[in-house]
Amino acid sequence: MHPNSPSLKSFLPVDPSSDFPIQNLPFGIFSTRQSPECRVGVAIGEWVLDLSELEKIGLLAPSSQSVFNKPALNDFIALGQSVWRSTRAQISLLLRSDHPRLRDDEVLRANALVPMHEALMHLPIAVAGYTDFYSSKEHATNVGSMFRDPANALLPNWLHLPVGYNGRASSVVVSGTEIRRPMGQVKPPSAEQPQFAACAKLDFELETAFIVGANTALGESVSVNDAEELIFGMVLLNDWSARDIQQWEYVPLGPFNAKTFATSISPWVVTMEALEPFRVPGPKQEPEPLSYLRQNGDHSFDIRLAVELQTAENHQPTTICNTNYRAMYWSMAQQLAHHTISGCNLRVGDLMASGTISGTQPDSFGSLLELSWNGQRPVTLSDGHTKRSFLEDGDVVTMRGACVGAHYRCGFGAVSGRVIPALNHA
Ligand code: MN
Repeated sequence: MHPNSPSLKSFLPVDPSSDFPIQNLPFGIFSTRQSPECRVGVAIGEWVLDLSELEKIGLLAPSSQSVFNKPALNDFIALGQSVWRSTRAQISLLLRSDHPRLRDDEVLRANALVPMHEALMHLPIAVAGYTDFYSSKEHATNVGSMFRDPANALLPNWLHLPVGYNGRASSVVVSGTEIRRPMGQVKPPSAEQPQFAACAKLDFELETAFIVGANTALGESVSVNDAEELIFGMVLLNDWSARDIQQWEYVPLGPFNAKTFATSISPWVVTMEALEPFRVPGPKQEPEPLSYLRQNGDHSFDIRLAVELQTAENHQPTTICNTNYRAMYWSMAQQLAHHTISGCNLRVGDLMASGTISGTQPDSFGSLLELSWNGQRPVTLSDGHTKRSFLEDGDVVTMRGACVGAHYRCGFGAVSGRVIPALNHA
């Protein structure tokens, strides 16, 4: 049976509300207090299946070298799409209710199944490079309306190419990492000279990202029709942004310190194969893109996304954004084809982010910049009185994502981060 079959059941009880049914099987890196070495695991319900234990006894052997007793997924990912798929099928079989090998082996179960609450999650990949696109038309329109001209919100290139920039790989961190408010140069409109100060307009950006699963040669490009085969899977991504630093620095080369201080990703990588049942058409592209970006068929995914904000004082988080990945204008394949059309090579572990994902409704905007319209209409939280235009120290931002089907839910879990005060060396 195909690992995406809705009729599959695991011998482990999985609540219908879980992000991690047997049809998902996302990969991540974990350790435990008892066994502090980082290794590869797969999420199933409230458990983590330790693939290094299965590899050790030969139940999983995707390579002659160990790829699961490793602190990153890169070695496994480098084996390519057919190995990702055959391995996922083997894991699915081992977890099935009608398959006795793991189900009836008490010792192996004790060694290989870790309760999720005991697992400490780590960055799933060694991030080779980090690129951030800008592919939500609604987001680009909002930002263009705010800072330029509502009548000409999109710059002339936007409908012709997936705009992007090279981000900083070294500061990509896993969910749960505290985010220190950055210091930097700002120049308030009223000031004559720039000042050195703590960021006063700290923001989040709701994004997804995909992980590249192949090395390509310098000078070669990836065709838009082959690009999806090179994508291993997706995570949630928070592209933390210092709006006041960004405002002063970004012309002419784009954001630099406003983005480099931290980028958070969710710990579980949902494979493209698991997302396959949730494939949907993307928006119609008008004007028709140039031929190297032209593709037929359905290339978007129905992924529901939400952002919660909790302050240090509030006991309950407030959901401040609900949106969906499906309306993204440029597909992941188009982003990859465009990225490589110059001859830029790809590396296993490259992280390519979507850009802020905003919908058409005011409560579907993927950043505080848009939700509060640059501070003009602060967001009121669920306690009825706390307001936010930008993030304050102690605030926790949590992003969640899931594909919700008729028979099961295929989720990403969450990416979360708490803002801590700036180290002031002014
Ligand atoms: Mn971004």
